Amino acid sequence: MRLVLLGAPGSGKGTQAKLLKEELNIPHISTGDLLRAAVAAGTELGKAAKVVMDKGQLVSDEIVLGMLKERLEQDDAKKGFILDGFPRNLVQADMLDKLLDEINMPAEHAVLIEVDPEEVVARIAKRAELEGRSDDTEEVVRDRIKVYENQTAPVVNHYKEHGILSEILGQGGIDQVQQRILAVLRF
Ligand code: AMP
Repeated sequence: MRLVLLGAPGSGKGTQAKLLKEELNIPHISTGDLLRAAVAAGTELGKAAKVVMDKGQLVSDEIVLGMLKERLEQDDAKKGFILDGFPRNLVQADMLDKLLDEINMPAEHAVLIEVDPEEVVARIAKRAELEGRSDDTEEVVRDRIKVYENQTAPVVNHYKEHGILSEILGQGGIDQVQQRILAVLRF
């Protein structure tokens, strides 16, 4: 199964992807996690990325695509993957289509998790307490939501036009949302 998860910051993509990874036995590939790992490792790329991430802006398409390509080349991704956090804009969506076509592994499903904007802010405030991510402060979250609305939301249409988009409601319990996703993947 080759799946792209879409949704605003705080929509529950990461949480759902972690559960789906167990359920479907395919890797969860989060470009945010890959970038945070580079930041933690203190690489040059990580240092440059941190400045951008702490402002809630998008890291350059080429850098993120390069990281993603490397990750997709690992053996475990041959059986499929759950993409979380990529594509983040229309340029990345086109880059991803091209990359996946080249390796003969086009995306099969894109699932949009829809959540109320107010709920998003509340969820991220809770995550900030639990995880202490440096980009979960109220001000940066507001910018990340703006970036989502301006740059990432159009990606939804990209997948709609490709005929592989499903939209599910992200409100309710984690298990409930998981069941909704599994239902659209199975039928
Ligand atoms: P996330 O964990 O998906 O919320 O990502 C955290 C931050 O990493 C984002 O706010 C961006 O700064 C950066 N990031 C993650 N994925 C991408 C991407 N596909 N393109 C550009 N920047 C990204």
